[in-house]
Amino acid sequence: MATVDVTVRGGGVFGLSVAWECARRGARVRLIETTRIGAGASGGVVGALAPHVPEQWNAKKQFQFESLVMAGDFWGGVTEAGGAQTGFARVGRLQPLADAAAAALAEGRVAGAAEHWQGQGIWRVAPVAEFGVLAPVSPTGLVVHDTLSARANPRLLGPALVAAIRAKGGEIVIGEGPDEGAVVWATGIDGLGALSAAFGKQVGNGVKGQAAILGFDAGTVPQVFADGLLIVPHANGTVAVGSTAEKRYDAPDTTDEQLDAVLARARALCPDLADAPVLERWAGVRPRAATMAPVLGAWPGRTGHYVANGGFKIGFGMAPKVAEVMADLLLEGRDAIPAGFRVEDCV
Ligand SMILES: Cc1cc2nc3c(=O)[nH]c(=O)nc-3n(C[C@H](O)[C@H](O)[C@H](O)COP(=O)(O)OP(=O)(O)OC[C@H]3O[C@@H](n4cnc5c(N)ncnc54)[C@H](O)[C@@H]3O)c2cc1C
Repeated sequence: MATVDVTVRGGGVFGLSVAWECARRGARVRLIETTRIGAGASGGVVGALAPHVPEQWNAKKQFQFESLVMAGDFWGGVTEAGGAQTGFARVGRLQPLADAAAAALAEGRVAGAAEHWQGQGIWRVAPVAEFGVLAPVSPTGLVVHDTLSARANPRLLGPALVAAIRAKGGEIVIGEGPDEGAVVWATGIDGLGALSAAFGKQVGNGVKGQAAILGFDAGTVPQVFADGLLIVPHANGTVAVGSTAEKRYDAPDTTDEQLDAVLARARALCPDLADAPVLERWAGVRPRAATMAPVLGAWPGRTGHYVANGGFKIGFGMAPKVAEVMADLLLEGRDAIPAGFRVEDCV
């Protein structure tokens, strides 16, 4: 007789969030992490929770939008249950506009945000002079300011989720333990490798990223995004800067001159960071599915086994919604996984 209803494998943000949501709904849960909580991509530093551009709307954008909207309640519930902070705040985001064409494009997206964001956040073009600390250099003097973007501290999310799961009676096993009940494979890059081996095709691969933590107390101000560069102020007197995106790499966890280049760009973009000391350099590998979308749902042909993977560059942002749809499926048999996000779509 199984002593738990759900076993989740993987102590990253996907596994922990699924385990938490199941425990919150009353299921008996065991989470098994072979190495340590946050051993994979979730042990990183950046933690931007940001929406896609509000145009050419599709299922992936809607899923991420819903996840962003529910993030405040989700992370608030985690803190309420376990007592540990997550660093979540809806700080918004600034994107400098390089020229008149970029400004016109950005103005054109105001209506898209009004339609697709359903009043949950705004997208507007504003003078950068409206903003203070950490405001980016903008050639036009204009920025896109959105109020939907948020941030959370990746270093706090894992411990906060562990505390919340335990508070609901869930078990956390570091090392090995028995798989009982429904088994969810939220095993990141290793899990994409296991799916590839099982189905004899490349289900996904890893994309390495390097990022850093700077010592700079920006207060509660918007994060900054420009040309793939993210600058995220956190509540603990630090600012995270990232990231590289490397399809080819020798070592998964080393940093090099590519991170130096990212840091130089960040200091040029946000002159407030010019003298901020580097407190930590970090690298990890993002689990990227070949579809570029999350990989969720039942493991085809393996009864009782499920997958929650493919967080790629936005895993922290999507975790609340991933947890919701996986718990719906595991506990209620209700399949609300969007088309294109299923394991079958990748294998
Ligand atoms: C540099 C960088 C910056 C990023 N910035 C952001 C950002 O700003 N915003 C955002 O939303 N996302 C960001 N991401 C992406 C995000 O980190 C990932 O999408 C997310 O962490 C993936 O979580 P996961 O739980 O699926 O995988 P992981 O965190 O990799 O967790 C998988 C876990 O499974 C464990 N495991 C493996 N095999 C087994 C097994 N057999 N049994 C038990 N456990 C096992 C591993 O040890 C690991 O701990 C970034 C990623 C990188 C690398």
